[in-house]
Amino acid sequence: MINIHHLNCGILSPPGVGSVACHCLLLEEDGHLALVDAGFGLRDIQSPLKRIGQDKIDFYNIRFDARHTAVHQIEDMGFVPAYVRDCIITHLDFDHIGGLDDFPYSTVHVAAEEYASFASGNPRYLHHQLGHRPKLELYEKGACKWFGMEARKLKLPFSTTVYLIPLFGHTKGHCGVAIQQNENWILHVGDAFYLEAELFSEAQKIAEVASKSADDDHQRKLSLKHLMDLLASNKHIKMLSYHEPSFFNLEAELSFKL
Ligand SMILES: [Zn+2]
Repeated sequence: MINIHHLNCGILSPPGVGSVACHCLLLEEDGHLALVDAGFGLRDIQSPLKRIGQDKIDFYNIRFDARHTAVHQIEDMGFVPAYVRDCIITHLDFDHIGGLDDFPYSTVHVAAEEYASFASGNPRYLHHQLGHRPKLELYEKGACKWFGMEARKLKLPFSTTVYLIPLFGHTKGHCGVAIQQNENWILHVGDAFYLEAELFSEAQKIAEVASKSADDDHQRKLSLKHLMDLLASNKHIKMLSYHEPSFFNLEAELSFKL
């Protein structure tokens, strides 16, 4: 049986949105550990200007705190970070992969389309965040389906089924991660929606932000519609997004002294 631990690996406060989280998951089964998204890492905290750049730091109002890094939290939980051998990545934006080089022996699992967009030089990415040249496991389109949606089965040392679910649009190969728990599923949707409010109304300020940051906004809206339909028709799926803050107590975290 898989254990799912929830980690907040960063706080951003972009204009007009308020403070949002960086919701990563640590999957644990029979001594094997896998991370879903990697948040900000120790190198981001140590050299934010060099790693992230002034423009992004100013716009997103990023809080740099080593206590938020996955590597520190995993240690605090009593696990050995070197045992994290797999990192499953929804997409390669800077706020999702800064922590990857804290797990240098870890294989990075990502959709082939996402890595192709990264490797093509797409300027939205910070290419040095993969400068440690991790082993990559890329997933191409296949025939597998999950509740009618395309699914790509992840190669992990778990008996639990974990899929990448293409939710393209935010980026060219953006995916959610579906994890089975008995008859239920957790679907980490990455940035397919930022806040849960987007599922219930289009007239949100956040929808403007989501449109602007999409590589393909038409495709992003189709992906969001698929998620809304899935939620309406299925009681066995719990969705969570990377940036939705309500899962964590961000106010308390922000009150910690840096
Ligand atoms: Zn993001």
